[in-house]
Amino acid sequence: MKRGVLVAGSANLDFVVRAPHVPAPGETVLGNGFATFPGGKGANQAVACVRAGGAPTRMLLALGDDVHAAPIEASLRGAGVGLDIVRMRGTATGVAFVCLAGDGENAITVAPGANARLLPEHLPPLADVGHLLLQLETPLPTVEAWAREARRAGVQVALNAAPAQALPRSLLGDCQLLIVNEGELAAISGRQGIGAGLDALDAPAVVVTLGARGCCARVGGEYLLQPGFAVNAVDTTGAGDTFCGTLVASLSLGLPYPAALRHACAASALACTRLGAQTGVPRQDEVRRLLAARPGDATEALAAYVGIA
Ligand code: ADP
Repeated sequence: MKRGVLVAGSANLDFVVRAPHVPAPGETVLGNGFATFPGGKGANQAVACVRAGGAPTRMLLALGDDVHAAPIEASLRGAGVGLDIVRMRGTATGVAFVCLAGDGENAITVAPGANARLLPEHLPPLADVGHLLLQLETPLPTVEAWAREARRAGVQVALNAAPAQALPRSLLGDCQLLIVNEGELAAISGRQGIGAGLDALDAPAVVVTLGARGCCARVGGEYLLQPGFAVNAVDTTGAGDTFCGTLVASLSLGLPYPAALRHACAASALACTRLGAQTGVPRQDEVRRLLAARPGDATEALAAYVGIA
């Protein structure tokens, strides 16, 4: 079995301001701390794949020719992600402006820069790739072309359909695994309710993350529930990315879905206890320790919330 994971997607530098609350439209809030962190859904998920998930991981990304590119590259290399970098001359590196509120909530604005110029032909050879992990922070026609090519090459395609947008049926048809949060599920399925949303999407496996509650999934005709791990959340930025990267890494290493979902929930819970999207991704041994300390959780409350018996 080919075990390598290729993540193809976005890489940004995150400019993070801590503030008492997320500003409402038109409001200015005085923050109380500023830092930059490497981010972008693709890069965050690649770091999660290799660090929390322990899978050999490469990433296809685009960087501009400005000062924001170097910290992104250094973070990915430092984590042990192999890189296929497309360098875009005369283009800004992607950036994100993150407001992080005291209660762990956030609001994010992204300027995609070089990410928006990724093209179908940038996909590297897939010879050693078992799983391709995609998001929607790169142009949709490019994502569609990558998924199509990977599927033709026998690669398992996983799509984190975030940020939410309408998806062509053909793209869903090329994906073996779709990962969404509750808002994305409603937007993409057009259905009210988690059970109805899960059933409306054609992909063989659909996973819905439910914040602190954990996650649920439909794999084939079977429904799976994984309660969240209770933690003291200080920064939920990148929780979903840690979940996606750890899930795909776990699957690529041969774990069955129930165990892979448990790993992903544990890793993403730990990520919430630390600042920064990539800096917050835990190591694999930390994930294992949490899993060992928490052998099983009751699923009744989650089942009632999801509406699946
Ligand atoms: P997104 O950040 O993409 O909206 P979620 O909020 O659903 O995604 O979070 C993704 C995963 O992160 C959840 O399935 C859960 O495992 C974990 N998670 C998120 N928030 C918390 C929290 N407060 N406590 C524990 N785990 C959390």
